[in-house]
Amino acid sequence: MTAAIEARGLVKRYGEITAVDHVDLTVRSGDVYGYLGPNGAGKTTSLRMLLGLIRPDEGSARLFGHDPLVEGARALDGVAGFVEAPRFYPYMSARKNLEFVAALDGGDAAERIDEALDTVDLTKRQHDKVRGYSHGMKQRLGIAGALLRDPKLLLLDEPTTGLDPAGMRDMRALVHRLAEDGLTVLLSSHLMSEVEDLCDRVAIVTRGRVVYEGALDELIATTAGRYDLRTTN
Ligand code: ATP
Repeated sequence: MTAAIEARGLVKRYGEITAVDHVDLTVRSGDVYGYLGPNGAGKTTSLRMLLGLIRPDEGSARLFGHDPLVEGARALDGVAGFVEAPRFYPYMSARKNLEFVAALDGGDAAERIDEALDTVDLTKRQHDKVRGYSHGMKQRLGIAGALLRDPKLLLLDEPTTGLDPAGMRDMRALVHRLAEDGLTVLLSSHLMSEVEDLCDRVAIVTRGRVVYEGALDELIATTAGRYDLRTTN
C-alpha cells in the first residue's frame, strides 16, 4: 500500500547550518505519527519540504506517491497542513472566515462548514469575531479550515505550542477525534507527553537527524534510561 508520506534522504542547509540532515520518513495511512524534537531540531523545515513549500538540497518527498515539487498542486490533493499559525480576518466571524476559505475552493459549503465547526468544537462560538478568539480556538479554527478540503492527511506543526493547559487538552482531544475518523496525521511536537497520548509511531529528531524511528510502545520499552525524553520538553 502506498505510504501517506515517504521521504528519502531529505537535506536542507542554511549556510553553515544543516537544518535537516538526511531524514527518511515513512508514515503509513491511518497512523498518527509524532515528529518529536527540541526547538531548532529541524521539524518545521522538514514539514515545509514535505508540503513542497521549500525545495530540499538533497532527497525527495512523496505524499501518497506524489511529489509536490514535481507534480504541483495535484500532488497535494487530499492533503492539508499548516506550518505557521493560521491567519484569519479578525473582524469577521469564524463562520464567515470559513465561508471565505470554502468560496476560494468553490462550491456550496454550508454543510461542510457545519461539520468542520462541530469537529473542532466551535459550533457555539461560530458567530463570534475571530478577534476575540483565544490562541487555541484560532488553532482549531485553522484545522476546521483545513478540514473543508476533506483531507486524508493532515500535517500539524506544533499545534499545542503556546496553548494554556485547557487549550492543549482541547487540541489533543481534537487530534484524537480526527484519528478516529480515519485521518492520517503527522504531528510535530517538542513534548513527549503529547506524542505519548496520541501517536502510534514516532521519529525523534535532534539537530536535523532522526535518532529514533519506530512504534511508540517499543520506544518506551527499549529506551528507558537511554534517552531521557522528558528533557526534550
Ligand atoms: P522550532 O520548534 O523552534 O520551530 P524546529 O524543530 O521547527 O524548531 P526549524 O525551524 O526547522 O526547527 O529550524 C532548524 C534550524 O534551521 C534552526 O537552527 C533554524 O535557525 C534554521 N533555519 C530554519 N529556517 C531557516 C531560514 N529560512 N534561514 C536560516 N536558517 C533557518
